[in-house]
Amino acid sequence: MKGEQLYSGKAKTIYRTEDPSKYISEFRDSLTAFDGKKKSEASKKGYYNAQISKKLFELLESKGIRTHYVRMLSDTEMLVEAVDIIKIEVIPRNIAAGSITRRYPIKEGTVFKKPVMVMDYKSDEYGDPMLNEDIAVALGVATYEEIATIRQIALKVNEILIKYLDERGIALPDFKLEFGRKDGQILVADEISCDTCRFWDKETGKSMDKDIFRFDKGDLTKAYEDVAKRIAPEIFQ
Ligand code: 5GP
Repeated sequence: MKGEQLYSGKAKTIYRTEDPSKYISEFRDSLTAFDGKKKSEASKKGYYNAQISKKLFELLESKGIRTHYVRMLSDTEMLVEAVDIIKIEVIPRNIAAGSITRRYPIKEGTVFKKPVMVMDYKSDEYGDPMLNEDIAVALGVATYEEIATIRQIALKVNEILIKYLDERGIALPDFKLEFGRKDGQILVADEISCDTCRFWDKETGKSMDKDIFRFDKGDLTKAYEDVAKRIAPEIFQ
């Protein structure tokens, strides 16, 4: 079923399939941060991220949000719709952390009254610089209409995830979404996992995400496993 390798990113590899309308997204154990300057491997990371993404995509689909998720083919391989990726990373922020606290006088942990929506240009070459609507349109990466739709979907996804995670003892300071076009529709694509979200334990405030790797905060696999236990408990039975 797995065809030609189409693309190998920092944590996933995408393959063609016999069906031109579907790809396989394989979650790997590799880790990179700071534009690829820091690299490592963590056993089972790909497995936990794949299972967490599966559950969160299914959750979104159940709430009427279209995603590229089709079904799992194995523990780490996801069958997805072959979308045309829009080169915008959308980052809903609920609690200040990460780059926003470095670039602006905003203290880590500040709770935003309403989500702060940030868009970055998805480009390794340019280091994912921040975008606004006019720059995105000038670059030709999306139309004003598409950006409005993406923003609306991202806000809805944020609401759904905050509630779902809160019920499982996890706070969601921020996360990154990617979108793709397919047959005139916009779908949530890529992954929603410990690599692309900030997850903080509600009780202790401790990181349960890639910040553990970025800032050497402890045992990454153990934290990802803890998130998986709360989101996908069935995989441990
Ligand atoms: P920040 O802008 O603080 O670095 O990131 C904000 C949020 O978006 C974090 O949850 C982070 O994991 C996610 N994010 C932003 N850009 C990227 C990226 O290029 N790769 C990954 N894996 N996550 C990103």
